[in-house]
Amino acid sequence: MQMNVSQQLKESIGSIRNYELSEIVNIAGTSSMVQGEIRLTRTDRGILVKGTLHTEVEVTCSRCLSLFNCPLALNIEEEYFPITDVVSGAPLPLPEEPVCFTIDEHHVLDLTEAIRQYVLLAIPMKPLCREDCTGLCTSCGHNLNQEPCNCPPQGTDPRWSELSKLVSAVDLRVNEGKEQNK
Ligand SMILES: [Zn+2]
Ligand SMILES: [Zn+2]
Repeated sequence: MQMNVSQQLKESIGSIRNYELSEIVNIAGTSSMVQGEIRLTRTDRGILVKGTLHTEVEVTCSRCLSLFNCPLALNIEEEYFPITDVVSGAPLPLPEEPVCFTIDEHHVLDLTEAIRQYVLLAIPMKPLCREDCTGLCTSCGHNLNQEPCNCPPQGTDPRWSELSKLVSAVDLRVNEGKEQNK
């Protein structure tokens, strides 16, 4: 995801380049295909990168715990600042923003780190392999997307509720015992 922008840095403010990207990028230890179109615009300070990139990363479903490929759309908008003057080669002061992306001394603009950061932000907090994922059975742990399990429906069979009362009573006694031993 590297582009040499030395020519564009010599152009006047507002000059535009469009790039079609299609590249494998290493994100968090795995290689993912990143594709899309971005537009580079010359600004008074550097180059503004804007566009939407598409990729997929492997994540764990928060309900059924299976691995699946989660498609992500990255709406990139970042200004890149050159660290050296393209004409004189003199070092340039960086803006005072706490974090900023830079164009290196060879006038190469590298999108990889920005893509990595956008991916981490785009991954949902609770990913779902599909909207209607039925998840795992809370009793036996079976993946209910594959087929129903043989567990009785919860809260309907009185024998199970009696048993669970017994279990919690035993738990209580065990805990009390621990308290007394202290
Ligand atoms: Zn799932
Ligand atoms: Zn079950």
